[in-house]
Amino acid sequence: MCGIIGCVTKGNCYRYLISSLEKLEYRGYDSAGIAVLSEAGLAIRKKKGGVKNLFGEELSGRAGIGHTRWATHGAPSDANAHPHVCGKFALVHNGIVENYAKLREELSAAGETFLSETDSEVIVKLIARSYTGNFFAAVSSACSRLEGSYAIAVLCEDFPEEIVCAKYKSPLIAGASSSALFVCSDVPALSGEAEYIAAAEDGEFIHIRGGEIDFCDGAGRRIGKKFSKVTETSLGGRRRCATYMEEEIFEIPRALEDTLAWLNAADFAPCARAMRQAKKVFAVACGTAYHAALLFKDIVEKEVRIPVLCHTSSEFRYRDPLVEEGDLVVAVSQSGETADTLEAARLARERGGFVLAVTNVSCSSLSSLADFTVVMRAGPEIAVAATKSYNCQLLCLYYIAAQLCFYKKTQMPAYMPELASLPEAARASFKTFPAMDMLAEKLRGAQSMYFLGRDRDVRTAAEGALKVKEIAYVFAEGYAAGELKHGTLALVERGFPVIAVSTRADLAKKTENALEEVKSRGAYTVLLSQYGFMEESCADFKCKLPSVSEPLMPVISVIPLQYFACRMCLLRGYDPDKPRNLAKSVTVE
Ligand code: GLU
Repeated sequence: MCGIIGCVTKGNCYRYLISSLEKLEYRGYDSAGIAVLSEAGLAIRKKKGGVKNLFGEELSGRAGIGHTRWATHGAPSDANAHPHVCGKFALVHNGIVENYAKLREELSAAGETFLSETDSEVIVKLIARSYTGNFFAAVSSACSRLEGSYAIAVLCEDFPEEIVCAKYKSPLIAGASSSALFVCSDVPALSGEAEYIAAAEDGEFIHIRGGEIDFCDGAGRRIGKKFSKVTETSLGGRRRCATYMEEEIFEIPRALEDTLAWLNAADFAPCARAMRQAKKVFAVACGTAYHAALLFKDIVEKEVRIPVLCHTSSEFRYRDPLVEEGDLVVAVSQSGETADTLEAARLARERGGFVLAVTNVSCSSLSSLADFTVVMRAGPEIAVAATKSYNCQLLCLYYIAAQLCFYKKTQMPAYMPELASLPEAARASFKTFPAMDMLAEKLRGAQSMYFLGRDRDVRTAAEGALKVKEIAYVFAEGYAAGELKHGTLALVERGFPVIAVSTRADLAKKTENALEEVKSRGAYTVLLSQYGFMEESCADFKCKLPSVSEPLMPVISVIPLQYFACRMCLLRGYDPDKPRNLAKSVTVE
């Protein structure tokens, strides 16, 4: 959450700041701001709302910082927008200063007045107060007082071509090209700009000065860092869609193809010992990735016959989890920066677990923390609501389950050879979109709805419901079809939409019964399935899915639901890329 950018450029930095902030806007859009430093001093522009509010006359200078905010402390407003300024310093911050109240009290008692309600402003005050002419030392000393998480970038009027940055538990990436040196929260901010990148570790500082970019420890001693060539797909050129979310849904077949190619070439040997020994497995994740983790549990328990304990990452460490030496812990996070999942993975390692990360970003904090990383190749996902990353997470998790079978010498899953057919099936699933357009048109006024399924279809139902909540703002629940009559059936009345996913032939009749039950109470029923029994179904609206081997259906059956949520959102007049109150890459707890 929240995007920061900093750059020192050969020409004017303004263009770089604005274009990087636009690319980072998915991380927060409560407010945006920039500070540009020239010989004349600091020039600040910050405003509530999106980056477009910063457009206007160019601010000139070669060093600058920028911010796009997802507010944690203080409402979205001009005053709370970053950068925050004190004396000669301007600062942007991603994270939460957990001891800010105490620090604010101390600073107020010392005579400081605060211009914002943010936790971040205490940092720039601390820097200004500890400054005695050494810029780096002032930043380092301020950081030593902070508890919580931070990635900061700071400008100082005495050093017109320098930026000092620090990182602790929030992401910070350095980038370099022949015309500029950068720091930012996330690689996509630098797409088309930086040629080389390197990620900072917790406790490290980045110092841009004299045309160089150095990683340092708190005392300012240089740390050798290897920069790698930027290979991530550039974010430029949307092809056919007005929104990133639609675009990303259409990218699913390509994303699956690339992920499969990566998996087929990957060497899982470093996991061999852990996989052979593991008596139980954990899966930790949040949101959409949590639904992928639940499916992983279903697959592993079925194929490998060992227990998988699946936790939402935010709960994991408060439950004194049963992780023991030798357990395998699979941590799933699109960005690899999800604060809750990082904490869960850290705890799992402390307890002797082997952490296997599944992430979309190879240089993320999660992959540097993990014992082994499976990098899905979904490509940058900008829309806040996850789509293609979910399909790719599932593919990776099916593959990992098969690796477990291999190392545990149990029979390889029958679905393995079928993985190669997933990209084509994903492409075929686009044929359901005209039907989903009609369904969204029909249900656009709905206040709430249920999604039903059995076994693995429950996970798809839960993910379909989450999508509709996130972007169309329709209250929805994903349920096990058999659970309805134990309480929630009470809410069903005339016209109430109930969408069932039915991809297991042997359970189809039971799902049909649930539809009959809700229909006889007035519900508007929808059925998604790959099977011919659809013809006889009582459902008011039917949608035929393309067919792949049954266990793999969740990778495909979710696609019409992702698209349906997106259409519902657009028809209801909202922007699917920027759902209210949310932001991508949840880097705060
Ligand atoms: N805590 C800071 C604020 O509320 C930064 C928020 C963030 O990292 O998104 O302004």
